[in-house]
Amino acid sequence: MEPYPFAAHGKNQKGIGKLFYPYFGFMITRIAPTPSGFLHPGNIFNFLLNWHWARQHGGKVLLRIDDADVERKRPEYVDDIFRVLEWLDMDWDIGPTGPDDLDQNWSQQHRRSLYDDSLLELRNKSLVYACSCTRTQLASEPCHCQDKKLDLDTAGLAWRIPTRGEIILFTDRVIGEVKHYLPLQHSFVVRRKDGIAAYHLASLADDRHFGVTHIARGEDLLPSTAMQLHIDDLLDQHYLRGCGFWHHPLILGDQGNKLSKSAGDMGRSIRTYIKKEQLLASFERWAGFDKKDRKEIFAL
Ligand SMILES: [Zn+2]
Repeated sequence: MEPYPFAAHGKNQKGIGKLFYPYFGFMITRIAPTPSGFLHPGNIFNFLLNWHWARQHGGKVLLRIDDADVERKRPEYVDDIFRVLEWLDMDWDIGPTGPDDLDQNWSQQHRRSLYDDSLLELRNKSLVYACSCTRTQLASEPCHCQDKKLDLDTAGLAWRIPTRGEIILFTDRVIGEVKHYLPLQHSFVVRRKDGIAAYHLASLADDRHFGVTHIARGEDLLPSTAMQLHIDDLLDQHYLRGCGFWHHPLILGDQGNKLSKSAGDMGRSIRTYIKKEQLLASFERWAGFDKKDRKEIFAL
């Protein structure tokens, strides 16, 4: 696995390092697990789709472990990611070789300055406000903190971007033209109360940092794509605007339930309850390998 020289040192701020990017010109997809639970079949299908998509075009695969949330990160979940990928014979070109390499060189903790740059830019453009709402308060009414003009430097406050029903337009390779409305009189968190960059902001900064060009994700994440595109636009980076998107149908459980951490997590590694051949065969059926040519399925 070739080392990626900039990620480890956080030198790729403001995208400058991309000029030296060793995979410039390649298609780059990513598999981005969160180590807050064991991987479930839904994760695996998504990984395989991204993997095949890149490989079909001679592209590169990035393994990005989304470990910004240190509270929920557990060593057994990190370990499971590497073991499952090895079990499935899935390789990757950019990313950590194992748990130690992750901690030393690839953890999102090393890219906090990158996320802080984006947060600072949003702040300088007066696009964020501070919010003191508790989870309980937010359960009963929306956040009205924007009117309070709380000091952004106060510790323990979240930073939010207000939304006003903005229309986000983008193209999905299967769905076609997508017109997504951000919520009216709403807001979303870009910096959590503990000062950690929220998922959307970190994910966007990372995709830009590593030069990801194509993103396949579950269709339940379509609103996430819209929000990330919105942040991208606000930052005037328009990085994601150049990316290819593929929102695939969700992989459902036997009862038609969504396989997620709550519904699909058996509390142990997938390796212990599904045969690899069975998992790969059901992926191939789901992806349509039995009906169509791979070239057709993964066409750009
Ligand atoms: Zn609030």
